[in-house]
Amino acid sequence: METERITLKSDTPGQELALSVFQFVGSNDGPAVYIQAALHSHEMPGVAALDQLMPRLVAAENEARLAGSITLVPHANPIGLAQAVYGETLGRFDANTRVNFNRSFPTDIATELTGKPAAECLKATLLTLAERADVVLDLHCDDEGPVYLYISEGQLDEGLRLARAMQAAVILTDAADDPISFDLAVGARWAVESRNADDRFAATIELRGMMDVTPDFAKQDADGLYRYLVDIGTVIDDLPAIDSVDPTMGAVDDAVLISTAEPGAILYDVLIGDWVTKGQRLAVILSEPGSAHHEILSPFDGQVMTRRDRRFARRGDDVIKVLRHPLP
Ligand SMILES: [Zn+2]
Repeated sequence: METERITLKSDTPGQELALSVFQFVGSNDGPAVYIQAALHSHEMPGVAALDQLMPRLVAAENEARLAGSITLVPHANPIGLAQAVYGETLGRFDANTRVNFNRSFPTDIATELTGKPAAECLKATLLTLAERADVVLDLHCDDEGPVYLYISEGQLDEGLRLARAMQAAVILTDAADDPISFDLAVGARWAVESRNADDRFAATIELRGMMDVTPDFAKQDADGLYRYLVDIGTVIDDLPAIDSVDPTMGAVDDAVLISTAEPGAILYDVLIGDWVTKGQRLAVILSEPGSAHHEILSPFDGQVMTRRDRRFARRGDDVIKVLRHPLP
């Protein structure tokens, strides 16, 4: 394993930003893989999973079982990691520009970075590292949710392979007309470079919720990533078969965030993964104790995907995400 430290100029004097990049060199007989975590810098399940994965890759490299090279960036966002307000790491949004760290990627590879803000340089650096690979996995998590994937809709076969290895519960497909997220931006770069994007695969993996950072989950997710690396021929190993249930599949636009028209405490009626029918109560919003409560109803039949990780909502806040889907 080789460790590279890439430094980025900070936007203020007296500070330096650095990315730690871990490289595992293979024989080039299998696909090269790039995996990053914590682009939303406070999302720790992916960081914990890569920590568990690393010793297995060290062993594979030492035993000449790496057919493809692997690049890991466990903390992909040193800018966001350093930004805290009143004890809370913001993580998802740049505190200075309010731009989501997983949005607004440069589409022009030749963009001159000299004099650009650190966040733009970071995004360009991550894309440059990722686009060299054949497979790119961007590890995130939700507020509360299952393991689920975002993929572009043309890559369903590869998405299913990844979902089975990761034991993912849901795949959301994106038409990728607008490459807004990191995985789609990598795909757009491949297309611009005239590299055959069909032979390559990029996905976002949501590793449950913000609180799901435990030794067991980290091992489970490292197991899944390792199994996928073996499946695609990047790591050579002989693993026992596992039973995996095919995920629920839907278009990203069918995963609908439902907001509340009233503020207050959130009391959920349903759990992640529950199947719900149109009109079913999903949650109660308690504004004024002793007064009538506001009810959040499902607008369609479907499956509960994610819930908010706080139990207070302002008026207009998103409370729950339901995937529109026929009942099984
Ligand atoms: Zn995220």
